[in-house]
Amino acid sequence: MTQANPFRPALAKMLPYAPGEQPPPGSCVKLNTNENPYPPPPAVVEAIRTAAGGPINRYPDPMATSFRRAAAEALGMPGPEWILAGNGSDEILTILVRGFVGEGQRLRLPYPSYILYRTLADIQGASWEQTPFEDGWKLPAEFAKSDDGLRLVLLPNPNSPSGTIVSPNEVEKVSASLTCPLVVDEAYVDFAETNCLDLVKRNENVFVTRTLSKSYGLAGLRFGFLVAQPHIVAELTKIKDSYNCDAISIAAATAAMGCQEWLADIKTKMNTTRAVMQSRLSAMGFEVTPSHANFVWCRHPDGNHKAIYEFLKQNNILIRYMQFADWGDGLRISVGTDEQMESCLSTIERALQS
Ligand SMILES: *Cc1c(COP(=O)(O)O)cnc(C)c1O
Repeated sequence: MTQANPFRPALAKMLPYAPGEQPPPGSCVKLNTNENPYPPPPAVVEAIRTAAGGPINRYPDPMATSFRRAAAEALGMPGPEWILAGNGSDEILTILVRGFVGEGQRLRLPYPSYILYRTLADIQGASWEQTPFEDGWKLPAEFAKSDDGLRLVLLPNPNSPSGTIVSPNEVEKVSASLTCPLVVDEAYVDFAETNCLDLVKRNENVFVTRTLSKSYGLAGLRFGFLVAQPHIVAELTKIKDSYNCDAISIAAATAAMGCQEWLADIKTKMNTTRAVMQSRLSAMGFEVTPSHANFVWCRHPDGNHKAIYEFLKQNNILIRYMQFADWGDGLRISVGTDEQMESCLSTIERALQS
């Protein structure tokens, strides 16, 4: 007799997370998943080559100590015990949800924001609650309300898909009124002017997550990390896989932390391109949300967003068409090279004329 679905009921009920399309490299202008259009710093590529010639037959350092030292120094944190390394910041988010949100409990996220948080709650057999942003992408008062079942609040900051940012002052107010931890997902913060690291120093209930996927041009490598007070890091270490980061990515990520000037240059270059994108899109009649990230969210009052996306796709340009239930749709376009933006923007012009 065939057994009924042997999986946990929570899995049977959940919808899978759908990552952005990843077509074969070089097949299109890829502006759909907010990767860096530029290669990583040369010192990182060199570190990868060196590590590949190293003792790959041996397990890596389980705590990625070299990286944690370099990260603490680069970020001005007191020491490596404030950092937890992960296989992408998505793994860090998984560890956090596993650590704080049990079956029957709940996490909160703003809406629209990063849908992965919902998937992580679903896997736990936990539930999620979406608090809609107010007009102008402001956090409503409800976002800071606590109750017994609420175990974790997650805030992408800058947010995706909007690219908007909530000030550290505002984040601190939210965390002060919550009784559970607040995770500030700073995947895009290297393109912004503020961050929440200082809040972590003085508040055991504020955690920051970071990734090397966007600003450092290392999405293909998989490396992200958590910044939190040492007792939080120590407890979460129990949850992670023993060897969650491999020797090559630890070497690369350690080298990346030494490339702060490179990072500042990339930020200047990409934010300049972003400003051009924003003004060109506005000139075409789009409502463009001012971005603090390496992508731009825009909506056209009389444009068919899906049709624009499809037209670009036929022309081998991939952007993100996003539709949020009970909210609406729009286009999220990653900041590419100036050349890529030129072909994207001129194709959008053609799409609007057709
Ligand atoms: C891209 C992204 C991440 C994931 O980063 P990885 O380190 O590549 O796993 C996390 N949060 C947000 C909001 C993102 O957009």
